[in-house]
Amino acid sequence: MIRFHNTLSNQLEEFKPLKSGEVTLYTCGPTVYHYAHIGNFRTFVFEDLLRRFLECRGFKVKHVMNITDVDDKTIAGANREKKTLSQYTEFYTQAFLEDMKTLNLLPPKIQPRATDSILDMIEMIRKLIAKGIAYEADGSVYYRVAAFPAYGKLSKKKLEGNIEGARVDVDEYEKETGADFVLWKKAKEDEPSWDSPWGKGRPGWHIECSAMCMRHLGETVDIHAGGEDLVFPHHENEIAQSEAATGKPFVRFWLHAKHLLVNGEKMSKSKGNFFTLRDLLEKGYDPMAIRYALLAVHYRHQLNFTFEGLKEAREVIEKLDNCYFQCLSRSVLGVSASKKMAHGAGLKAVLEAVVKHLEDDLNIAASLSEFIGGVTKINTALDQMNEKELKDALSFFKKADELFGLDITSIDAIPPGVKESLGQYAEARKARDFSFSDKMRQQIKELGWVVKDGRPGEPSTVKKIRRAWDTKK
Ligand SMILES: [Zn+2]
Repeated sequence: MIRFHNTLSNQLEEFKPLKSGEVTLYTCGPTVYHYAHIGNFRTFVFEDLLRRFLECRGFKVKHVMNITDVDDKTIAGANREKKTLSQYTEFYTQAFLEDMKTLNLLPPKIQPRATDSILDMIEMIRKLIAKGIAYEADGSVYYRVAAFPAYGKLSKKKLEGNIEGARVDVDEYEKETGADFVLWKKAKEDEPSWDSPWGKGRPGWHIECSAMCMRHLGETVDIHAGGEDLVFPHHENEIAQSEAATGKPFVRFWLHAKHLLVNGEKMSKSKGNFFTLRDLLEKGYDPMAIRYALLAVHYRHQLNFTFEGLKEAREVIEKLDNCYFQCLSRSVLGVSASKKMAHGAGLKAVLEAVVKHLEDDLNIAASLSEFIGGVTKINTALDQMNEKELKDALSFFKKADELFGLDITSIDAIPPGVKESLGQYAEARKARDFSFSDKMRQQIKELGWVVKDGRPGEPSTVKKIRRAWDTKK
């Protein structure tokens, strides 16, 4: 049984998709006004795990993530840099797509941009006006919060104290009570605008996600996820807009990731603890160590991001890498033991437990600890493993990669040239011809691999240079 914590009920609930075998998943994408920071990626990594887990459990996941390329922040940024909105947002959109690849986040099936979906938003606003839920005032259109009695059901905010007719024009606000929020903003002089039945203007941020989500996934979605800061007002407003327009439940499961701290403090530029993914890469940290650090703490727990934690994450990745390469090179170089062990069956059970823990509201700590326990088992048994067991170990890593996305197995073969040079390297060492073995070591390095000498009596193996630290040792 799969259980997720649903923000709407504030309880663990059994998850079953509306349509058997298929899950619709909407995740709020980035606002492309800046490089995304590690707090953003904490949420995106959690959502990636969620999707990978569901796919591992055999569901077809229709995943939509939007790109917010028009809102208060993007417009302010474009004006500040004296660029057109699309020039400005295209740059950060491309940067975000690159960052996604760097962190091995699966690309969404559909990634709509808000500016390509304006007609859907206008259509939805018209519907809301026709139903008396939205109204026009001074060329803008507002959502009448008092007309939707269920308002506040996600964030548990009460409408008491709301002044009838109080309106809020900005995308982000922290009012304790719901004021009428803007759906369509009348054009200002230095802002891009689109034609609409209410004159030139542009959409508010909240209507964007409602329109894009329903356009691509239908009126009722299985899972909608995001960071906890989006619960109010963004997701509350999405519910109000969508449910008032369709009369149907908008989202069945709301999942929210808790925000991270950096060194125990809220991330902020003024404190100097604000990091984009690119900041960390520039400091020489490996993408998969960063991914591991963001992944390893349960999505509803506070993750305290530290450089010490990154170092530990790197050690885990090194352990996984080394074990995988030991299995790979032993398998490829034919140095397996011949006697039969029952190790393969053990790994199958480990893998089942790894997935099983995730069924419990993505219990990542238990799942990872099971996985790493399996890797320790392989390490201990390496010398005794026969060819079939080595193959089982390799597929164990492959399955774990599908689930955790740690990119341990993206190299699944050793090129013939490297294999041949490694053979010559071993021969030369045996013959104590160290100048030739050094030459071979260098040749292998030029092909992008490093030689790892085994303990006495053990064969040397090779490892692909692909981590920040691989050439430093
Ligand atoms: Zn959104």
